[in-house]
Amino acid sequence: MVFLSKIVNMNFQSKQLVLVFLLLFLVSCKSKKVLSENSLINKSVVNDTAFVNLKEYSTDFVYDMKYASADNFLKSKVYDCAECYLRFKTVKGLMEANKIFIKKGYKIKLFDCYRPLDIQKKMWKIVPNPIYVANPSKGSIHNRGGAVDITLVDQNGKELDMGTTFDYFGIEASHNYPNFSSKIKRNRKLLKRIMIKQKFNSFDSEWWHYNLKSALNDKVSNAKWKCD
Ligand SMILES: [Zn+2]
Repeated sequence: MVFLSKIVNMNFQSKQLVLVFLLLFLVSCKSKKVLSENSLINKSVVNDTAFVNLKEYSTDFVYDMKYASADNFLKSKVYDCAECYLRFKTVKGLMEANKIFIKKGYKIKLFDCYRPLDIQKKMWKIVPNPIYVANPSKGSIHNRGGAVDITLVDQNGKELDMGTTFDYFGIEASHNYPNFSSKIKRNRKLLKRIMIKQKFNSFDSEWWHYNLKSALNDKVSNAKWKCD
């Protein structure tokens, strides 16, 4: 009311100025609302099998995209930049799992996501051994956008002890390896239990690998993302 009585007492020019400011304020509020409605509409029409960038849907993940650097068993950088693209349904499953981990004080850390077929071929050329790299003639679930290589980090960003590093090729990387401490077994079981609950499959010989069950029949893809 004080504000209104001040406007009434203003001269004509000042009143006009206040009205212009009010109008501008209302217009800016309106355009923000439309924009957020639009982006919601955009997200709701995304097809389950469309490739999307995980970071556009959640900021709650930690990334260490190993193949976008030379810090991997190939000793070679095979991605031009570090991005985590996946089919939308894989993103949804991963976000649901992460929600549960966050409640428990952890977060998912990603090592690898969707891998275009050309990248698979590049890896095969460096290490043409099916024990270490999936043969590109068959394609892997990473090439279908349904697989992730992950671990868990605590609130300080420290990785939970899973017994071996990511991409450790030995019997110790197996879920069934019996000679670890109960703490390591508990960490692996926690990751596995929540991921399986969200309809992911585990892979016996690699504790870090999970793939969405419903992605097994999706097509192998060579769609590539742009790097800045
Ligand atoms: Zn994997």
